[in-house]
Amino acid sequence: MASHQLPSARRPLRLLLALTVAATLHTVTIAQDDDQPGQPNVIVILADDLGYADVGFHGCRDIRTPNLDRLADQGIVCTAGYVSHPFCSPTRAGLLTGRYQQRFGHENNPTFNPQDEQTGLPSGEITIADVLRKAGYVTGAVGKWHLGAAAPFHPRVRGFDEFIGFLGGGHSYFFKTEARRSPEYLVDVERNGQPLQWKGRYLTDVLSDEALAFVDRHKAAPFLLYLAYNAPHTPLEAPPEYIEKYASIADEKRRVYAAMVTAVDDGVGRLLDRLEDLGLDEQTVLFFLSDNGGPVGINGSSNQPLRAGKGSVYEGGIRVPYVVRWKGHLQPARYGEAVSSLDIFPTAAAVAGGQLPTDRHIDGVNLLPYLRGRQSGAPHETLFWRTGGGAAFAVRTYGDKLVRHSDRNDELYDLSSDTPESHDRLAAEARAARQLRGLLEQWNSQLVPPKWEGPRRRQPL
Ligand code: CA
Repeated sequence: MASHQLPSARRPLRLLLALTVAATLHTVTIAQDDDQPGQPNVIVILADDLGYADVGFHGCRDIRTPNLDRLADQGIVCTAGYVSHPFCSPTRAGLLTGRYQQRFGHENNPTFNPQDEQTGLPSGEITIADVLRKAGYVTGAVGKWHLGAAAPFHPRVRGFDEFIGFLGGGHSYFFKTEARRSPEYLVDVERNGQPLQWKGRYLTDVLSDEALAFVDRHKAAPFLLYLAYNAPHTPLEAPPEYIEKYASIADEKRRVYAAMVTAVDDGVGRLLDRLEDLGLDEQTVLFFLSDNGGPVGINGSSNQPLRAGKGSVYEGGIRVPYVVRWKGHLQPARYGEAVSSLDIFPTAAAVAGGQLPTDRHIDGVNLLPYLRGRQSGAPHETLFWRTGGGAAFAVRTYGDKLVRHSDRNDELYDLSSDTPESHDRLAAEARAARQLRGLLEQWNSQLVPPKWEGPRRRQPL
């Protein structure tokens, strides 16, 4: 082929290509890090309704979490780690897509109904599992799904090769069939479409076992494991031998809650041991976080010193224990800049050499350059929250946070000196408030109304 022909033909071709690419769904490959070993595994461990204050690495005294503390010691503790929503399903929708879930109407929990093909993670959304599977990963989800119970929402059609868990928003921790409890909490625990036999066992232990078995099955391949414990979400249930460890806790709810947290901690410990035994520590990027703050008073959790809890856009609802560990690649540290659960998707795509969709806005940020100290500044200039289609909002820019509830005046807090959000500075900081309102309104204008209302249920959220 005569190369001299190319210059004249090339330009329009390149232009055409550019136009074609701009007009269709296209993807961008994120360059892999320069000093990483091939494609490391990615594990995301999500706890459910775990309070900010209920882990040893945040100073908890009465509940012992030696394995989570080991993880924290070996990783980076993001002390301002946020989720994109103060309750279960919307947070998961954001985490798995890297996008504010209000962009696609996923702002409420879905009603548990296997026949309802309207309420669940919209089929047009691309998940972290879609992206990593395309990059050559084996993908598995273990535990709670809560992103729709009908066939189009099943994890195995949302990018996961394997699913061992249950589709609803919670589950009985012991095998039961009685009808007094919501059917959602009694539904089969499945393993790739077949009911799993788990009678006589404790669900948290079952999920831990399944996570270990998944790692064993796929230790030779790069894998994504999304391990979503339903603990320590209600119902408050734990085996006596776990509860007995906490005889010194007088409050009964907290005593059982502590037992449930310990069962998660044991499971995480076994998983860490297995990774170590298999020599996979440096080949595995691991995230640990809770899906929202503790529902104080309901499951015995604590978010001290944060204000409020699950369901709220105050810090107690959205700031969670958040650890990233990648042995040999990330130096253990405490990291104070705000990070989000939305960041897991692009960070995972980056380590996997995966392709992020560019036909839509991805709100998460690849955290690695920041966590490695190679990029200065904060990963996010702003983080936003909206619940109830606009009943409540929050926006955080560095230390400043504006809170808006539809039934009261806006509030402004300086989180750098007032983590508990106890001193409203709105009157004193009118200019900052104006700026934050402007940012909030600009963001809100990009969102759509909730696609469905939240279910009416006896227990909140
Ligand atoms: Ca939750």
